[in-house]
Amino acid sequence: MPRELAERQLLIEHYEEQRRLLKFKDDIIWKMSQELKRKYDYYQDEFDKETKNEMEEWARLVDKYASELKKFDMVCAFCGQHMSDLTVNTDCVENNSMFDSYTYFTDDEPPQHIIHKARHWFGRPSLRQFN
Ligand SMILES: [Zn+2]
Repeated sequence: MPRELAERQLLIEHYEEQRRLLKFKDDIIWKMSQELKRKYDYYQDEFDKETKNEMEEWARLVDKYASELKKFDMVCAFCGQHMSDLTVNTDCVENNSMFDSYTYFTDDEPPQHIIHKARHWFGRPSLRQFN
């Protein structure tokens, strides 16, 4: 009988040991999953921050280039053509001796020595001709 008891005692101890081991595994798995979640959240936040910064940087660049481009949005005071690589160094069919309008396509008026010289004269577009 004492042998049986001793065997049973051993079995119980073995069972207890197994139970502790399982609980230990569960704890480890739970801790790891928590750690993983924490890291995931952290990197998600970092990623969001980085993405937001990058989007802002692009928006800033687009604004910058839009205003840079606006600087080159000029028209001929006489004919109203937009300045481009095709028009900038060419003759102006409107800037001839027949031209006597005081309504220019530009904000600024071209200097006297340019008038009737058959050349474009570019400046900022004016809205005056629409008034
Ligand atoms: Zn012109």
